[in-house]
Amino acid sequence: MSTYDAIIVGAGFGGMGAAIQLNRLGYDNLLILERESDLGGTWHVNHYPGLAVDIPSATYSYSFEPNPGWSRLFAPGRELKRYAEHVADKYRLRRYMRFGTEVTGAVWDADRAQWTVSRRDGDPVTAKYLLTATGFLSQPRKPDIDGIDTFAGKVIHTTDWDDGYDLSGKRVAVIGTGATAVQLIPELAKVAAEMTVYQRTPIWVSPKPDLAVPPALRRAFAAVPLTQRIARWAGSAVLELMMVTGVLHYKQLPAANRLGERWCRAHLRRQIRDPELRRKLTPSYSFGCKRPTFSNDYYPTFTRDHVHLETTPIARIDATGIVTSDGGRRDIDVLVLATGFDLWEANFPAIEIIGRDGRDLGKWWRENRFQAYEGVTVPRFPNFISLNSPYSYSGLSYFTTIETQMRHMDRLFTAMRARGATEFEVTQHANDEFLGRMREKIGDSIFALGQCSAANSYYFNPHGEATLLRPSSTANAHREAGRFPLEDYSFAGKG
Ligand code: NAP
Repeated sequence: MSTYDAIIVGAGFGGMGAAIQLNRLGYDNLLILERESDLGGTWHVNHYPGLAVDIPSATYSYSFEPNPGWSRLFAPGRELKRYAEHVADKYRLRRYMRFGTEVTGAVWDADRAQWTVSRRDGDPVTAKYLLTATGFLSQPRKPDIDGIDTFAGKVIHTTDWDDGYDLSGKRVAVIGTGATAVQLIPELAKVAAEMTVYQRTPIWVSPKPDLAVPPALRRAFAAVPLTQRIARWAGSAVLELMMVTGVLHYKQLPAANRLGERWCRAHLRRQIRDPELRRKLTPSYSFGCKRPTFSNDYYPTFTRDHVHLETTPIARIDATGIVTSDGGRRDIDVLVLATGFDLWEANFPAIEIIGRDGRDLGKWWRENRFQAYEGVTVPRFPNFISLNSPYSYSGLSYFTTIETQMRHMDRLFTAMRARGATEFEVTQHANDEFLGRMREKIGDSIFALGQCSAANSYYFNPHGEATLLRPSSTANAHREAGRFPLEDYSFAGKG
């Protein structure tokens, strides 16, 4: 069995960023294992009508690989998929990728100082380093509703959109009102004969300042990359301001959060005149407890005669329709599940990972706290980089997180090799210190001080702690990734 330098699980933007970083460090014997049939992660799996990036596209790309061709300020999903393909081709990453390969687990072999990675169909493979880039929003959640499997019509989860299925003239039910549903519902309303949206928790919706990027500006971005860097910087600065002032420093700046809430309330008031409908669409939790979204056509969709908002809880589903707890029923042809993802149970971690002394990562996280040093490494898991860790998500663009982690890898692997070593492991002390610092900082945030219990937000783990987002500025995360004390790691092995 040949041993790779590194195995990366996941061929989305996180996994590709990790591979680019490993190449820069001189590692070329890589294997990228991907469960899906192609690269791109989220942007390969999701192709439902209305899919678009929900932050300005100039910020949603690698800083070292700008894309001057975005057609809109909020680019449609297919452009993100094309961008992923471009990156894979330009950085010659396809040669490492194996698709349709589901990884089931990984075990640290202390004697050989390597990871053994098992696959559902195929022999185990081994590598010196293991990197998991399995995403946060990658395990679809099917709701546990009584009778759902007895429904005889068409069922579509948004992550498994059937492009060939024609919804025109159909009676459609949509369950869920998260960011995905907000994009999808206006599109479905254009073709459905009747549409009922089953809402459990309303979402804060902000106006979407979307516009087409004029061809002249695209040409300018291509000819003078500095112009696009300025656009990226401006977009990032706005996102950072929203995140740091509105969410993370709620204690110091409660007015910033209230401003965000007022902005969304005014948007709802402008678009919905019926007070009863407006009341139903108004969240009862603080702005920022759950990721808010942007849309100009979500609210107006509910004013159309053939669109209904149902807020009475669903009691059960039968062969032909949905019954609510007040006894009301609607017959439907199509059931659309915009029910999001199982983040914590199925994804932390997405595969079984057994480290030194038999430590099981998922079990350890659940029996202790969800934690990872700088959102990257975990004690007793040598030579392991966990890209989708507790406290890893920094800022609002996922690319901020990816590039911060690439920077961490750069410093870590460079230091290891400078010592003539081949193994790294974060110390328990460094991990504990980082966790303590994050827990203290989260105390200033909306998550600790706001009214979040009604939000049903995936930012919170099953213990009720908000351990997904790193509660510091992206500047702080970026700085620490390039300057963390090297004593925070122990190094071993001979190069
Ligand atoms: P989500 O935010 O988790 O929303 C899932 C929705 O389904 C919620 O309204 C939830 O209600 C509802 N739901 C789940 N189970 C239910 C049940 N048993 N009965 C009734 N309702 C149920 O998932 P999402 O909308 O897919 O969005 C996830 C994240 O993906 C977003 O926050 C965003 O970060 C990202 N996203 C990004 C883009 C983009 O960039 N283009 C687009 C879409 C999504 P509760 O709230 O009551 O649980």
